Formats: sequence, C-alpha cells, structure tokens
Amino acid sequence: MKILILNCGSSSIKYKLIEMIGEQTLSYGIMERIGMHDGLLYHHFQKEGELKEKKLVMEIPDYNIGIKLIINTLIHSKYGVINDEKEISAIGHRVVHGGEKFASSVLIDADVKQDIRDCIELAPLHNPHNLRGIKACETLLSGIPQVAVFDTAFHQTMPKFAYIYGLPYLLYQKYDIRRYGFHGTSHRYVSERVSELSGESIEDIKIITCHLGNGCSISAIEKGKSVDTSMGFTPLEGLVMGTRCGNIDPTVVFHLIGREGLSLSEVVTLLNKQSGLYGISGVSNDMREILQEVKANNSRASLALEIFCYQVRKYIASYAGVLGGVDVLVFTAGIGENVPLVRQKCCEKLDFMGVKIDKEKNELAIGKEAIISQQSSKVKIFCIPTNEELIIARDTKKIVEILINKETKN
Ligand code: ADP
Repeated sequence: MKILILNCGSSSIKYKLIEMIGEQTLSYGIMERIGMHDGLLYHHFQKEGELKEKKLVMEIPDYNIGIKLIINTLIHSKYGVINDEKEISAIGHRVVHGGEKFASSVLIDADVKQDIRDCIELAPLHNPHNLRGIKACETLLSGIPQVAVFDTAFHQTMPKFAYIYGLPYLLYQKYDIRRYGFHGTSHRYVSERVSELSGESIEDIKIITCHLGNGCSISAIEKGKSVDTSMGFTPLEGLVMGTRCGNIDPTVVFHLIGREGLSLSEVVTLLNKQSGLYGISGVSNDMREILQEVKANNSRASLALEIFCYQVRKYIASYAGVLGGVDVLVFTAGIGENVPLVRQKCCEKLDFMGVKIDKEKNELAIGKEAIISQQSSKVKIFCIPTNEELIIARDTKKIVEILINKETKN
C-alpha cells in the first residue's frame, strides 16, 4: 500500500510517498512559492537504490495546479517513482487544528471538512490551506480515501485543570478559549519510539518530550497520553522559539499599542515573527547562525541562547512536577536533534532530579537516534529524530484498512 502524505501551508506543500510494506520512503519534496510565477519544486526520489534530487522551476498559480504538478512528478518517466496515480492507495493530510472535535485521526467526509472549516477561527493561518489541499485531492485523485491527522489531537487527553486558562470560564464556553497544544504528532511519535527503543511499555514510563525546531513545545506524557503541553490556544504560548516570543505578560500587548502606536495586527506580527531568538539576538531565527555568532562573542546571540535553554530547563523541571517524577527525557526536531550544546544547557542543574547527560554521547548524537544519558542517570535521555509523516502514514493505513474491510463485508 502506497500512501501520499501532504502538509499544505500558505504558499508551500510538503509531500512524501511511503510504501507501507517496510515503511519505505519512495519520494519526498517541497513545493514553494505557490501563487507566484517562479514556483519551485525540490523533488527527492529513489531510483536504482539511490536517493536522487530534481529541482523544477515553474509557474504554480494555485493549489490545484500545485498538487497536479506533484502527482505528475511522482509518475514522471525519469524522476517519478510510480507508473500511475492509481497506485496511491490513500492520502494522509496534516491538519493543524481539530479543536475539541478530534482526539484522533479520521477519514475525511463532508462532516469532517465542515468541522475543519469550523476550526478556521482557531487556526486562520493553517486550516484554510489544509482544506484547500483536501479539496484539490478530491478533484485530482477522485475516489482515493483521504485521512486527516491533527496536530492538536494527541493533546486532547489533557485534564481540564491543565487546559483551562485563568480567564472567565464563560469565554471557554462561548469561544472555545483554552490550551490546545500543537506538534502532537511529533510528541506522539517520539514517545512511542522511546518505548520501542527502551523495551519498556509506554504504560509504565513517564516521559517529557522536547520538540525544539523553529516552533518549540514540550509535553508531559503519562501512560502514552499527553497530560500537559507548553503551546496553548495558539502555537505562540510556551517556550521562546525562532521568531515567536513564547510566554509573556499579556499587558505587554496593551503597553506596545500605547507606547509604540502599533495596531493590533502589528503587535501580532511582532510577537509571532519578530521575537524569539531573532528578536533577542537581532541576528537570526536560525540556531546555526546563533551558534556562529556566539562563537564570535556576540553577546546578544549568547543571551538568546541562554534564554532559549533556560526556558526549556524550567519546563522540564515543572513537568517533572506535573508527572510526579520522570523516567525519560527526549529531544527532537531541528535543534533538539542536532545541537548538543543546547541539550547540555537544557539539562544543566537537573541532576537533583536524576537527569545526568553524558557529555561524550551527547556530542556524538547528531541527527540520529541515541541515548545520551550517563549509565548512572535515573532519567534516560534520548535524541530521536522526529517522523511526523510516518505517524500520519500509519494512521492513514489503519483507517483505510478498516474502510476496505467494511466494504468487503458489505
Ligand atoms: P520546523 O519547525 O520548521 O520544522 P526544524 O525542526 O527543521 O523546524 O528546526 C529548525 C531549527 O533547527 C533551526 O533553528 C535550525 O537552525 C535548527 N537546525 C536544523 N538543523 C541543524 C543542524 N544540523 N545544526 C544546528 N541546528 C540545526
């Protein structure tokens, strides 16, 4: 069974085609600059046992044409990996917001599409594009089942006292204002992977997962279920991120409007796009560039790095309190997988709760699965590259197989 995974953003589409026998990636890529005359497609494909790359530049006026181009590339005689689009058994979509409606992945039908539409108010920058991708596939790959896998779903197990804000309760009832949490598919993947790698049942381990990429979030996981997470009503809450500010006193917003004369939307842009590592350092949102500047003795870059790691450390310690102890700590995503210095700083001073990182193992763990804790560490520390697409593919397969079984019985 071959499954196409799509992650449709505002002007880009990421895709992956997975052969579920052996869970092998046949092709993956990213289409950028949709809506512009100089659209780009970076296409990677397996040919004769080798991973090859093809870059295509073309006009991509809209989503439908974009997805059509991706399909044409997948079936292309030279750089395609399948002969016919009918070889695609199902499509799995990453959908950002499922609100309170979805605690797991679902087969997409008219009701599900309406529910995703209903969540647009909660994720105006994401859900409309996810829907556009779904609709384009309905037209272009008609009859092929589609599944929605939500970023928020994994966190729907949080207890009410973890997700209700200290605001008038009426606002939750009226407008669904509460903590939802994001990156759920990644937190779920690495927590399940940790259980596989350590050979311990997920029911028996208390896990703290740190997803540190451009966006960053931490989750407390008990018996395989998310019980708290740092992102909130939107992905702005929690840690300091690439360009997002994370937790601040909400009064800052009013102060900025009064003192800087900014409009509300300008403040939203400032908090989401001009803050975080970028805003503090004045250099970049990219950890690689921050690290270079730290080496060059740039004090603002050093401050940004310190703040970033300090925030992670605070959350790790507080989530140990949430869980009543911790057995496993996981680092994942671009920074978590690749930057030993960040991992080391995030674990500083945590020996009191049994977190002891092994300097050497940590230095060697770059972009690969590894245990990076000392033998004597009570808490096992892991570096695990995330694989959200695999979770999307597995969920899609499971749901489609149920559908096929039902159809065969009828
Ligand atoms: P996204 O949230 O966009 O998926 P990623 O998970 O790719 O982001 O993480 C992006 C961040 O990871 C950036 O700050 C980038 O600098 C950092 N990063 C990615 N690869 C490396 C690397 N090899 N070394 C250092 N930092 C890296």
